[in-house]
Amino acid sequence: MRLNKLTIKELRRLLDKREITPTEILNDIYSQIDRYEDKIKSYITITKDFSYKMAEDAEDHIKNGLMSPLTGIPLAIKDNICTKGILTTCASRILYNFLPPYESTVTEKLLRQKYILVGKTNLDEFAMGSSTENSFFHTTKNPWNMQRVPGGSSGGSAAAVAADECIAALGSDTGGSIRQPASFCGVVGLKPTYGLVSRFGLIAFASSLDQIGPITKDVTDSAMMLNVIAGYDPLDSTSVPIDVPDYVSAIGRDIKGLKIGIPQEFFIEGLDIEVSNTVKEAINKLESIGAIPVDISLPHTAYAVATYYIVATSEASSNLSRYDGVKYGFRASGKDLLEMYMNSRAQGFGDEVKRRIMLGTYALSSGYYDAYYKKAQQIRTLIMQDFKMAFEKVDAIITPTSPTPAFEIGEKTTDPLQMYLSDIFTISVNLAGVPAISIPCGFTQDNLPIGLQIIGRNFDEETIFRVAYAYEQSMDFYKRRAI
Ligand code: GLN
Repeated sequence: MRLNKLTIKELRRLLDKREITPTEILNDIYSQIDRYEDKIKSYITITKDFSYKMAEDAEDHIKNGLMSPLTGIPLAIKDNICTKGILTTCASRILYNFLPPYESTVTEKLLRQKYILVGKTNLDEFAMGSSTENSFFHTTKNPWNMQRVPGGSSGGSAAAVAADECIAALGSDTGGSIRQPASFCGVVGLKPTYGLVSRFGLIAFASSLDQIGPITKDVTDSAMMLNVIAGYDPLDSTSVPIDVPDYVSAIGRDIKGLKIGIPQEFFIEGLDIEVSNTVKEAINKLESIGAIPVDISLPHTAYAVATYYIVATSEASSNLSRYDGVKYGFRASGKDLLEMYMNSRAQGFGDEVKRRIMLGTYALSSGYYDAYYKKAQQIRTLIMQDFKMAFEKVDAIITPTSPTPAFEIGEKTTDPLQMYLSDIFTISVNLAGVPAISIPCGFTQDNLPIGLQIIGRNFDEETIFRVAYAYEQSMDFYKRRAI
């Protein structure tokens, strides 16, 4: 049995019974990496020596009877999440040599459980993109089809999970960056409610939208990961002080009588026919196991992408002003201080990041602020209200995760607008702050995974897991492996 193919839950059982050791799991992970990583390129940094040290440490804990759910489990972390003393680049030249002097809260929580870090995964530079093609380092390939993108921006994390190069991973989601790559790679990706998971140590892109979440092989593992990373953190001022439930216990409860909303605005022209048919079949399946489909409307959906690209770029232009070549990261030369700043930013940022800084700076500039930024904030409020009203009628909302399956590498790089449209179904969720998961719901004729998005009420990840698990267990897509 190849241990890298198993889930967290399966490994936990074997570890707890002392039938396997963390080092044995790691051996299988690294033999998979040796075999496939040259082709797939999920990682920016692989921390092999450190991983084996962590495995020994986990082993000692297990010997002493100190088991937590993630003790000895090899995980991959998106490279925009700070790991103390371990290279964290955000896939940008401007941070090509950045060794964080502190640990993010999420990885601190994993460390306390004695997890094993496999490495830091590839992403679009500063998480801006939908394909990982905007990485300064390299493009990650989709393990199901190497000519295709893995999605983005957490493409490295999703590919690493799909290719069994780690057991599970963390990603971040600002407009779809966990869910869309999960859907393209046939794995499970959860964007938690805004404020549920601490953003401390997540390199900021758009602070009012960013959330960290798990990418896993199945729904149970997603709940197990969320159990560990969720919770109030005084180091993040937007973290919400609520009691975190046990998400794993939500799993397995049936969904009889649960109302699932089907928003008419999401089954639009331009939606790939195989995606549309597969998602409709998934809705029928949910109905056959007890859910009640209800037609709903989210009337401001059409404005979500435009609103997002004003809010997100405005926040990015402010957040990215800190990179000036002075205290850390890439520094270019210049005849005086100003020229050094300008050269460092000009040479340190890639094209997409520059495009967004310029868009955002423009939207915030005096004279245009009211017309763009303020207007976008007003529409954001309307989008939030759409969800609020819908959730008065239904318990969860079902949509496709992405309008198409994984597209070809290079297909959209010259047309940013086409690239932006690939997040049309995920973006309004971030604008509203609500949680959503993507789970596999079928395959195209070319064997590319298709994702189903389940959206819940604020802080009601339990219902999402309940629906997701009931569906997952009624089908067997989650058992199919990419390689
Ligand atoms: N693809 C979207 C963008 O380019 C979302 C990215 C994300 O969620 N980080 O902004």
